[in-house]
Amino acid sequence: MGTQTSKQAFEEAQELIPGGVNSPVRAFKSVGGTPIFITEGEGAYLKDVDGNKYVDYVQSWGPLIFGHRDESIESAVIEAVKHGLSFGAPTQAETELAKLVVGLFDSIDKVRFVSSGTEAVMSAIRLARGFTNRDDIVKFTGCYHGHSDSLLVEAGSGAATFGSPSSPGVPADFTKHTLLAEYNNIESVKKCFADSDNIACVIIEPIAGNMGLVPADKEFLHELRKLCDEHGTLLIFDEVMSGFRATLRGAESITGVTPDIVTLGKVIGGGMPVGAFGARAEIMAQLSPEGPVYQAGTLSGNPVAMAAGYAALSKLKQNGRVIDVLNTRAVRLVEGMRDAAAECGVTMQIDTRGSMFGFFFNENPVKNFNDATKTDAELFAKFHAGMLKEGYYFACSLYETGFISTAVTDEMIEDTIAASKKVLKEIT
Ligand code: PLP
Repeated sequence: MGTQTSKQAFEEAQELIPGGVNSPVRAFKSVGGTPIFITEGEGAYLKDVDGNKYVDYVQSWGPLIFGHRDESIESAVIEAVKHGLSFGAPTQAETELAKLVVGLFDSIDKVRFVSSGTEAVMSAIRLARGFTNRDDIVKFTGCYHGHSDSLLVEAGSGAATFGSPSSPGVPADFTKHTLLAEYNNIESVKKCFADSDNIACVIIEPIAGNMGLVPADKEFLHELRKLCDEHGTLLIFDEVMSGFRATLRGAESITGVTPDIVTLGKVIGGGMPVGAFGARAEIMAQLSPEGPVYQAGTLSGNPVAMAAGYAALSKLKQNGRVIDVLNTRAVRLVEGMRDAAAECGVTMQIDTRGSMFGFFFNENPVKNFNDATKTDAELFAKFHAGMLKEGYYFACSLYETGFISTAVTDEMIEDTIAASKKVLKEIT
């Protein structure tokens, strides 16, 4: 399998684009080697500039739950394009997508659309601060909430990959209101509340996907809710990744914990740039133009993006069992890989939530970011390279989550397990 054209394309891109990529994790830095340059996606597959074909377990980092070029999403986009790309004025398409989101999330009465997950979270934090009239926020080490200044503190995902959780360019003054707690450790949250009586919100990925897949314990979330209530602090569930992936109706539907604000992204845009944040009416009423908290966007609620999102969410809603079916495949995949690893004397920790799957080359269970860093990075890099050679495109970082789309068949899962066995034998 040659990748010569990708290598040349990467060299050329590096001349013009920092690191050759427009989002750092794409550069394959943590696994080494050259990122492959893509020409097209089709169903479960990605095709690269050298003519290679890969089963895609990255799915554009989450959005493509129906795989590449899903017919209903594609035709909705084409139809929308025919009417114009952007108006900067309200359209009914926004209300239609809002209806779907509000109908699916019990915690959401009203929702506002933006163009990325970063924007959604940044806006939700401002809203929480405006609503409570407080400044401090609590985030968890290893959770990633986009790249806005106050949240780029011990973040997961690409920021963790590069060993620079706090980025140069973020003034210390901007992060002094961000308190850090340890995931799944309620005592560390209690300490934050002991240190500050000015906490506007606690933000958490209830199903963390940016330190690998590390779901929060149910009990921990219940205690978190209780602590927030005791202190008049809002609880934000960042479901940019897990929303419509782990479950159709949000983490609240499987944990019994109701957040005050939810942030969404990825699947909600069906592959187009869409983010959203929603809450009960009382909180959303603070938002401009109804209330004083300012938030805006030239392309927010873009009609083509709304059409893609509507097509994706309505298809998910109509096929209520899709996420369960994908979970069966996800479980089979990681259990198969874990058994293959065991045959080679390697211990793997695995987990799934809906169509999300995670694995660590770790001796012990992973409950927080510190545990996640114990992963055998060298083995992961070899595994990634080996699987790529075999035609399987996995996330190129230890701290990412895998995604299964409806285009991935049971047969592809079995083939992936067989390939993982072959690769693990070669590298151990
Ligand atoms: N929040 C979470 C949980 C995420 O996983 C991400 C991105 O991966 C973001 C926020 C930021 O979203 P975006 O990359 O669309 O800005």
